[in-house]
Amino acid sequence: MDVQRDSMDVDVLIVGGGPAGLATAIHLTNLIEQARESGELKGPAASDEFMLAVVEKSAEFGDHMLSGAVIDPKGLDELIPDWKEKDLPLAAKVNDDAMFYLTKGGRIKVPFLPPAMQNHGYHIVSLQQLVRWMGNQAEELGVMAFTGTAGAQPIFEDGCCKGVITDDKGIDKEGKQKSNFEAGMELRSKITVLAEGPRGHLTKQIVSELKLDKGKNPQSYVTGVKELWEIPKGRIKAGTMYHTLGFPLNMKTYGGGWIYAMSDELLSIGLVTALNAGDSRNDPHGNFQSYKMHPWIKSLLQGGKMTKYGAKTISEGGYFAMPQLYHDGLLLVGESAGFLDSMRLKGIHLGIKSGIMAAQTIFDALNREDYSANSLSAYDERFQRSWAKNELWKVRNFHQPYEHGLIFGGMNTGAQLVTGGRGFSDRIQAKPDHESMKTFSAMPEAKKPIERKFDGELTFDKLSDVYASSTNHEEHQPSHLKIADLSICEDRCKREYGNPCQYFCPAQVYEMVEGDDKELHLQLSPSNCVHCKTCDIADPYGIITWVAPEGGGGPQYSGL
Ligand code: SF4
Repeated sequence: MDVQRDSMDVDVLIVGGGPAGLATAIHLTNLIEQARESGELKGPAASDEFMLAVVEKSAEFGDHMLSGAVIDPKGLDELIPDWKEKDLPLAAKVNDDAMFYLTKGGRIKVPFLPPAMQNHGYHIVSLQQLVRWMGNQAEELGVMAFTGTAGAQPIFEDGCCKGVITDDKGIDKEGKQKSNFEAGMELRSKITVLAEGPRGHLTKQIVSELKLDKGKNPQSYVTGVKELWEIPKGRIKAGTMYHTLGFPLNMKTYGGGWIYAMSDELLSIGLVTALNAGDSRNDPHGNFQSYKMHPWIKSLLQGGKMTKYGAKTISEGGYFAMPQLYHDGLLLVGESAGFLDSMRLKGIHLGIKSGIMAAQTIFDALNREDYSANSLSAYDERFQRSWAKNELWKVRNFHQPYEHGLIFGGMNTGAQLVTGGRGFSDRIQAKPDHESMKTFSAMPEAKKPIERKFDGELTFDKLSDVYASSTNHEEHQPSHLKIADLSICEDRCKREYGNPCQYFCPAQVYEMVEGDDKELHLQLSPSNCVHCKTCDIADPYGIITWVAPEGGGGPQYSGL
C-alpha cells in the first residue's frame, strides 16, 4: 500500500517509554541543560530547535509496564538524586525477606540467601506507577512524548539507522483504509535508541538483520504472570517479601514465585515459568493458577479479591546473550539489550543505568556531530567500566545451566557463588528456548491434554484474567500476530506438538476450534493480547511474529 507520509526531523528518537528509554531522555536533557548553563554546548544540542522525542505504544506512560517489583534504587539515585523529594509513588519498604521451597503441601525455608539476593530496605513499587512518574519527569523537562504511537518500521539509509516510521491508524482487517485513516509519520533522527523492553519487534528485526547477536548466546526468556489481590488485614505485614521455588513447577522447569505485601491489604503475587520447558503443554498462566492452590498461598488469599492481572516475558539470558549495543545511528538500552540480572530477577536499576550511559554517549556524539558506530561504541566502553557490567558479569552463567534441570542448575549456581560467576565452566552456552520443546514422539505423555478447573474465586480462567488486565484494542484492524504459514499450525504442529500456542499464551489468543469440515482450525483473538511476547518466543517453528498493533491498544495496567 503506497502511502503519503509526513516526515519530521528530530535529533534523538527513543522508541519505547519504559525505565531505560525514559532514563535516556531524562539524563540527556539534564546533560544538555547543565552544558548550556556552563556555556559548553556544541553541535545540534546548542540549537533552540534541538528535539528529543520518545514514542511509546501505550496510551499513557506505564500502561504496558508490569513487574514484581522490588527496586534496587542504585539506578534511580544516579538519575534523579533527589527522587525522594519528588513524590514517587512507593509501596512498603521490605522488612521481612525470605525464600521458601514449596512441596505440594508444605514449605521449607531456604536457610541462607546470598547477599545479592537480599532486599531488606528496598521499596516495593508498581512499575506502572514508577514509569508514569518518570514520564512526568521527562515531560516536565521538555521531552516530546508521542504516546499511543508505535514504532512500526525502522528507517535505514546506507546501513545507518535514520529513525522509524510510526504506525498507520485506521486500517481495517483486510488492510484497507477506513474513513479515519491516518498515515504513520517518518520520524527521522540522528540517533535512534531502541528501548522496547523484552523481545521488542523492531529490536528483533534489527538485531537479526544487522547480525548484532553474532557470536552471542541466544536470548532466553521466562514468562511472568501476575495478579494484584486485596486481602483481609492481619494476614501479612506490609513490606513482607517472599520468593518461592518448587511447586507447582517440576524439576525440569526453571521458575519460581513471588509474594510481596505492598501494604497490609494489598498483595503482588506472581509466578515466572521458563519458556524452555520441554513439555509442549507448558502454560505459565495455568501454572500460576496452580500456585495459588498451594495450602499456604491459599491461606493468604482466601476471602480476598483479585483486582488486576498481567503477563510479560523477562529477558534472562544475561551477559553472554547481550547483543552488540550500538550501530551507525543506533543504540540499544534496557531489556532490548538484555540488561537484566537473572539471579536477582531485577532489571529496573540496570535499565536505568543503561539509559544513563546511552545519554552520556549521545551527548558526546552530538557535540562531535558524529553518529557513526565508531563514535557510539563509547556506550559499550562505558558499560564495560560500570557497576552494571560487574553485576552482570557475576551472574553471566546463571541461567544457562537450568536448561538441563533444577538439580544441575542449582549445583552450578552454588559453584558460581564461590567462583565469582564462573561455575563449572565459562562461558556456558545456551540454545533458543523453543528448541527445547519436545515433540509427541519424544514425550508421548504430552499427548494427554491438561484439564484445568477454575473456581472464579481463587483461580481464574484466561478470559477472566484478560478482563482484569483491562486490555483493549481497536477490533477492526489487521491481526498483529503474523503467522507465516497457517498450514504448519493446522497440520504439522497439530501432529507433532498438539498446538502449544493454546497453552503458552496467557491471554487465550490462540484456540483450535472445530470447523464445518470437523477438522481443528486455528482461531485468533488478537484483541485479548496483553503484549507479553511469549508466542513470538515459544512457538516451536518460529512462525509467529508479534508486531505492534495500532498505537494505544493493549493492556492498561494500573498498579501492576
Ligand atoms: Fe502474549 Fe502472544 Fe498471547 Fe499476546 S498473543 S498475550 S503476545 S502470547
